[in-house]
Amino acid sequence: MKRPFVTAEQLEDITRTYPTPFHLYDEKGIRETVRALRAAFAWNPGFREYFAVKATPNPAILKILREEGCGLDCATLTELLLAEKCGFSGAEIMFSSNDTPAEDFRLADRLGAVINLDDFSHIDFLRETTGRIPETVCCRFNPGGTFTVGDSAEGFQVMDTPGDAKYGFTRAQLFEGFRKLKAMGARRFGLHAFLASNTLSNAYYPALAGILFQLAVELERETGCDVCFIDLSGGVGIPYRPDQPANDIAAIGAGVREQFEKILVPAGMGDVALCTELGRFVLGPNGCLVTRVLHLKRTYKDYVGVDACAANLMRPAMYGAYHHITVMGKESAPCGHKYDVTGGLCENNDKFAVDRMLPEVAIGDLLVIHDTGAHGFSMGYNYNGKLRSAELLLREDGAVKLIRRAETPEDYFSTMIFD
Ligand SMILES: *Cc1c(COP(=O)(O)O)cnc(C)c1O
Repeated sequence: MKRPFVTAEQLEDITRTYPTPFHLYDEKGIRETVRALRAAFAWNPGFREYFAVKATPNPAILKILREEGCGLDCATLTELLLAEKCGFSGAEIMFSSNDTPAEDFRLADRLGAVINLDDFSHIDFLRETTGRIPETVCCRFNPGGTFTVGDSAEGFQVMDTPGDAKYGFTRAQLFEGFRKLKAMGARRFGLHAFLASNTLSNAYYPALAGILFQLAVELERETGCDVCFIDLSGGVGIPYRPDQPANDIAAIGAGVREQFEKILVPAGMGDVALCTELGRFVLGPNGCLVTRVLHLKRTYKDYVGVDACAANLMRPAMYGAYHHITVMGKESAPCGHKYDVTGGLCENNDKFAVDRMLPEVAIGDLLVIHDTGAHGFSMGYNYNGKLRSAELLLREDGAVKLIRRAETPEDYFSTMIFD
């Protein structure tokens, strides 16, 4: 059973100050998750989590993560600017972009970020735009084909198709790219890959690590380049459904360590630093979308109309993603009613849930939509003139802080030209 990190009473109290809808984040949960991640990789002295900014680009959240020792993974100019405004600099920033505009590379270079190149052609492009190749540089690997790990009988299988993904260098391009970068002055090399998203298997990171560690050994041997760090990127998932098992980050860290000791240590590469770029795992369960029931509608189906919509949380509409819903105050009532839970966009996919069994819902009920802390608010948009919601932080002492105000119509009009 999934429980919200706030009670019905707390939420009613919060909504007296901050009207729904809003995203609420749990500071305690965020800190605990990062600490568990860092503990799992404490055996690797150089380990660093570069939180993927795109998951939750909020200064208050990023500052908490900085206090917990995280760096940031940025992909665009504005994400870099946000990182800078939040006090991150130099090697605290990983710049993992693709199809990169020149000005983005220029800013990443000015900030001293670690640049993770997505393509062979970006080597020349980077030098043309910034005038130099930095001493430390990283390349993103795409092995092509399909990637499978785990045991389908246990329901843990992870499958993805890197061959269809736009990211990364081929294997041959990596060898040539490392040689070329070295000839242009690079001295410290990193290797990065992101092969599967939202994995619910403790085997994903160890399998990815095995591939990257082996490749790193071969790259060092054949090109003479010094591979200093390996970036396992994002992809460790969270159980969106109540019946799914959560990943065990300690077991994942131990699994990566096994590969490290099997492959890198015997090759004399035991000083390689590891990094991760987890967004979803760190923030996903530590945020929720809070919305109030506006209308009940009975036609060919029963509908619960709420005051949030897909513009506040796009994943169900975009991917058919499951997000668990708790009707606050009715946590132990039987789920005897079948509903579609909808927002007000003029799009029939604006549904947070389809045929969901819930307790009998009444107008005015507060709903908690779970696991929206990552890729939730950040994927928001203004379709139909819907405004972005507020973001609130539940502090460790139980106080609530506004960490982003809700948009107003003036914000919506601010880029329009009326003359
Ligand atoms: C999106 C992204 C991440 C974070 O992915 P999660 O699924 O949130 O862990 C990390 N690295 C890169 C390069 C990404 O694009």
